[in-house]
This record gives sequence, C-alpha cells and structure tokens, in this order.
Amino acid sequence: MLGVYIHIPFCQRKCLYCAFSSFVDLKEKDRYIEALKEEIENFNYSSYPKNLNLPFEKGEDGAQKPKIDTIYIGGGTPSLLDEKDLTRIFDTLKEKFNIDADSEITLECNPNSLTYEKAVFYRKLSINRLSIGVQSLRDEQLKFIGRLHSSAQALEAIDIAKKTGFTNISCDMLIGLSSSSDQFIEDLKKLIDKGITHISTYMLQVEEGTPLAKMVSAKPHLLPDDDQSVEVYNKTSEFLKNNGFLRYEVSNFAKRGYESKHNIKYWSGDDYVGFGLSAHSYIKGNRYANANNFADYYAGKSKLEEKLSKKELIEEHIMLGLRYNGGVSIEYLKKLGYKIENNENLAYFTDKNIISRDQNRIYLNPDFYGINNFIIVKLLP
Ligand code: SF4
Repeated sequence: MLGVYIHIPFCQRKCLYCAFSSFVDLKEKDRYIEALKEEIENFNYSSYPKNLNLPFEKGEDGAQKPKIDTIYIGGGTPSLLDEKDLTRIFDTLKEKFNIDADSEITLECNPNSLTYEKAVFYRKLSINRLSIGVQSLRDEQLKFIGRLHSSAQALEAIDIAKKTGFTNISCDMLIGLSSSSDQFIEDLKKLIDKGITHISTYMLQVEEGTPLAKMVSAKPHLLPDDDQSVEVYNKTSEFLKNNGFLRYEVSNFAKRGYESKHNIKYWSGDDYVGFGLSAHSYIKGNRYANANNFADYYAGKSKLEEKLSKKELIEEHIMLGLRYNGGVSIEYLKKLGYKIENNENLAYFTDKNIISRDQNRIYLNPDFYGINNFIIVKLLP
C-alpha cells in the first residue's frame, strides 16, 4: 500500500550539525501550511506513470480514494505546529486518501516542544507513533551540537508520551558524539527502562558548511575518531540485541512488531508520496523531489523527476535490500535482467555465512551490517 510523508521545515533554532531542509523563520508557516494543503489536494494520479495501479477503495464518505497505510510527519520539528495547523493537514489527508484503520501514523517531535496537551491532541488525531529526537542524554553533548533540550527534558518527553497512551515510541540517538561505548550504553539503558519500543542510532555527519564543520576543522579532537564510533556502534548493537531489540536495518532497532512500517517502504522499494518542501516520492520506479526553497515550492516547481533505468533499479534494490532484514528479491532482479545467483561472490559470502538465502531472497547477516557497503559493491552486476 502507499505511504505518505509530510515535511514540516521549521525549527526553533538551527542545530549546529544540521544540513536538513529546515528554517527558523516561523513567519512563513501559515503560507506554507496553505501550500502544503493545496499540494495534497492537487495530488494528481494521472501525472504519475500509467501503471501506477494504486489500490482505490471507498472511503467513509463513499468516494473512491487511494488507500494508504502509513503517514509520517517529519521535519524540521513537526511538534512546533499548533492544533489548527495539524487539523488542517489531517483533514486534507482524509479528504484525499482512504486511511487504513491499521495505519502507522508517526510524528517527529523534539523534547522541548512536546507538551502533555499536544500529546493528548496527537492521540485524538490518531497519531499512534512518536519519534523523539533525543540524540544524547549528556547535557554537555546536547549543548555542543546546539540542541535546545536537556537530557531531563528528553526523559520527560518519553513520560509524556507514555502517560498520554502512546505505546509505540521511538528515540533517535546520535553515535559519534561519545568516545565511550559504556557511556552511550548507559544512556540507552535509561531509554529502554522508560519502555520505548524503537531506537534509531544515526552516525553524526559533519556536513560541509555547518557550524559544526567549522568547529571540528579547527579542533578535530572534539569528536571521537571513526574507530571509536565503530566500537560504540558494535557495542550498541550487541547491547540492544541482548535487551530484546531486533536490528532490522543498519541504524534501526525495534522490539518485535514495532519496526517502522513507513521506513520499511523506503528500503523495500514500495511506493510513497512526499508532500512539502524538498519531499521525495517514489512511484513505480520513478523518483520525484520537490523544490527545496519556498519560492520554487510555492510556484509548484519540482527539483527532480526521473525514471530509473534497469541498471539503477538493480543497484538500488541491492543497496537497500542489504541494509535491512527484508533482503533482496532474486526474482525481481531476474526480471530486470540480473541473475545474482551467477555472481561468484554470492557463493563465497553464503559459504562464509555473511549472506543467507532462501528460495526467493538473499539477506545480509546483521553481524555484517557494519561493512555492508563492501558487500554491496561485490554483489552488483
Ligand atoms: S531539530 Fe533536526 S531539523 Fe531542526 S535544526 Fe535540529 S537537526 Fe535540524
């Protein structure tokens, strides 16, 4: 089924490492929400490939609409939106799509902008998953990367989520801030003890042009080196595994049944539509990206529209499939003209237990996720 992503490009302040599409000028918000609403309303199936074949079904209002089963509101900081903004977005989505009763509906929030009242309202809107940007439980690290919240606020945000009835709670944590795996694991333990169900551990990227890049180019010792970060990642994986969290993608760990349905669409090659500034869509082998500045976005200009070639589809399927536990479809690759069984490296990796396979699919053993890029290159046509 189709997934929907909504981008909210506003933040209270720019974090020092941030290279995402996010802006601190809230003056733009009302106009943006209006444009977002229009974009959803005008979403035109006929402008997508003829073979789109979306599952249409009757909605509650009796109209035939495409069925969706995931909504992900990301940013930026969606928890900055007020009730009026979110209601407008949800009303428009309901108008346009037939939202499956079992849909996973996620909202990203920052600990300092999540309140009890907001969380109660999110539940009313049928949001059933919160993704909280914790990043670290060390105040000195949070300050160093310019986050606005404290570790106490991060833990309180989880309490708020639990008190208001959320049972599906994810926390983002940044690897690459701490050189001590013991310290990082201590933080993870605090999160697990709070009863969260999902953890994403992203590697801190020092992006060119960010204030962080300037800071560390003058003083590289401010951040741990790559070997230390790899050690933190490996110990993290082991710790989370021993605590009942399945590593179902390189950076994502979940209690069984709490894997992100929406993100799995990205890795499995399922269709999704993105609305908002710089949002991406992927529909039947075609990729689309919206403009990443307000003026072009309001003018309806797109940044990218491309049909992937067979070669690109093969590469993408192998690259994504070997990053998560859904694996790579042998049949799908065959249809695209690539018999992966004939790749001699596959036999070698299978023999060494690096890759496992069944009749239809091949999977990378999670113990080797850390070197997935090396293996992917060896399995490309
Ligand atoms: S909260 Fe996220 S999107 Fe906003 S500035 Fe910080 S890193 Fe960027």
